[in-house]
Amino acid sequence: MPSPESVALEQMTRRAMMTVYTMISQRIRDHHHASSDIAALIDLLIANGTISYQEMVERRKASEDRLAKARAENWEGPQLHVSAPAPEVRIDCDSRQHACQSACCRLYRVNLTAEEVREGQVFWDLAVPYALPRRPNGDCVYLDPTTIKCTIWAQRPSVCRQYSCDKDDQVWADFNGIISTDRVKALTQIVREKK
Ligand code: SF4
Ligand code: SF4
Repeated sequence: MPSPESVALEQMTRRAMMTVYTMISQRIRDHHHASSDIAALIDLLIANGTISYQEMVERRKASEDRLAKARAENWEGPQLHVSAPAPEVRIDCDSRQHACQSACCRLYRVNLTAEEVREGQVFWDLAVPYALPRRPNGDCVYLDPTTIKCTIWAQRPSVCRQYSCDKDDQVWADFNGIISTDRVKALTQIVREKK
């Protein structure tokens, strides 16, 4: 059981990290604006005959190679979930989990809203802000590996509340017939809790 001090430190660290990531997001937006200005300037220089189009293409190729290398590092910046308020979706999961294996909690990354991050009710992955941590096999850490039920159902994020699998062809080959896709069938079979 963590001490009150360690819980407080954890929460403070998360608030601090959110501030840092917010600043990074702003820098990324600034960068995009600067890129637009540079592109406009290049257009002007070419139009005025100051540089040739071929020179610009060659130099841009070198820049693209550098950016591709950066993207390979898989850093896309902090991702908060932004959505209009929507009603909670009701799917009878209990009657389907024998077929879906709780696929929605295993296939997809769940990002938190800014409010959910501030509330601090659920943890997010410090390495992948602001997404719920996942196990090495991709499962959400809040999914009980034995019962394949959500362990924080009452506090689950809005992404989980608003998600509906009824039209998700990654999950269902036939929603009404409760026939899952081959991708879901290939999910590691989990030993179910004996009742
Ligand atoms: S995939 Fe659909 S039925 Fe299965 S747990 Fe998720 S929402 Fe419920
Ligand atoms: S928080 Fe719960 S409902 Fe949401 S992905 Fe994780 S286990 Fe599933």
